[in-house]
Amino acid sequence: MKKTVISIIGITLMLFAFTACQPRYIFVPHVHAFGEWTIIKEATCTDEGVKTRTCKLCSETETKIIEALGHDFDAVTNTCTRCGTVRQVISAEDDFLTATQKDGDVLIILQEDITIDIAPWARPENDKSVFGTDKTESIVIDGNGHDITFNNIDSDWNAIYTKNEDAVLTIKNATIDNLGHNADGGTWNGHDINFNCSVVLDNVTANNAIALGGKTATIKNSTISDADCTSDAYMLWIQANGQTVTVEDCIINGVSASGKGNRAIKIADEYVDEPKAVTLNVSGTTFSSDSKAAVLVTNTAGATINWGEGNDISGVKADTVNAVWNDGDRASYMDLVKVYGCTMKLEP
Ligand SMILES: [Zn+2]
Ligand SMILES: [Zn+2]
Repeated sequence: MKKTVISIIGITLMLFAFTACQPRYIFVPHVHAFGEWTIIKEATCTDEGVKTRTCKLCSETETKIIEALGHDFDAVTNTCTRCGTVRQVISAEDDFLTATQKDGDVLIILQEDITIDIAPWARPENDKSVFGTDKTESIVIDGNGHDITFNNIDSDWNAIYTKNEDAVLTIKNATIDNLGHNADGGTWNGHDINFNCSVVLDNVTANNAIALGGKTATIKNSTISDADCTSDAYMLWIQANGQTVTVEDCIINGVSASGKGNRAIKIADEYVDEPKAVTLNVSGTTFSSDSKAAVLVTNTAGATINWGEGNDISGVKADTVNAVWNDGDRASYMDLVKVYGCTMKLEP
C-alpha cells in the first residue's frame, strides 16, 4: 500500500515535471532568450533560404527568410563563381534573339536600350522572333535600368513566344514599351505587348498596355500605364485560357491623358476559342481608371479572384466599393465568378 502511494505521488510528480516544461505552463512575461540560428534551407544565388531559432525559456520559434545571394560573376569569364551560371552582357547592336538561343537557363544583362522585333500572333513556328530553343527552360532579361522596346511587325496580333512552351520569361529592372504596327492601339482589337508565354515581370515600368496569352503570369513591383492610348484600353488584358495570374505590389494606372475611357484589368473570353476560368490573385496593388471596375470579368467560363491585403481602388472612377464587375452581357455566367476578399456586382 505504501509503495503504491509513493509510486502514485512519484508518477504525479514526474507528470508535473514533464508538463511543466511545456510553454503553456510559463505565464511569466519574459524577454525571449533565443538560441543560435539553424539553417533549414540554404540560400542560393537565385532562391531564398530559411533559418529558425528557438527560445530557451518557452520554446517559441522564430523563422526568417535568408535573402537570395545573387550571382557572383567573374568579370572576365562572366561565369558565376558559386553556381556556374553564365551571363550574356548585350548591347543594342548584339542580336537579342541569338542571345536567347541556348538550352537550359539563359541570363541576359543589358548594357543599352534594345528593340526586339515581334512577329504576328499564331505564327510561332520557324518565326525569327521566337525566344529560346526547344530546350530553353528560363530566360531572364535583366534590363539593368534600360528600355526594352517591342517592335510589332505588320499585324494587330503580335505576340511574344518562347519556343519551349514550358519556358519562363522573366523581365526585371527595365522599362518596356512598344513600337510599330498600331503601337498605341490598346489591348482591345490588338495586343500592344502580348506575352503568349509564362512570364514574370519584376520591377518593370510598362508604358504600354499588356496582354497575357494563356500561361502563368506574375507581375510584381511594377507599374502599367498607357495614358496616350488611342482607344479605350485595358492596362492588363488577360485572355481566358485557364491560367493563374498574380499581381503583387503594383500600380495599374488606367487613366487616359486624352479623355478616353481607359480601364484597369479585364479577364476576357473575346478572341479565345474555348474560354477557361482564370485565377487572379491581387495584393498590395493600387488601381486607377476612367471606366469600369478595377477588374472586369467578361468570361463565359468564369474566374476565381483572390483579393488579398493592401489593394487600393480609390482611384477607380466608376466604382470605389466593388473591386470586381461581371460583364453585363454575360450576366447568366456570373455564378461562375468567385471572389474572395472583395465584393462583385453586375456591370451596370
Ligand atoms: Zn521565450
Ligand atoms: Zn550564381
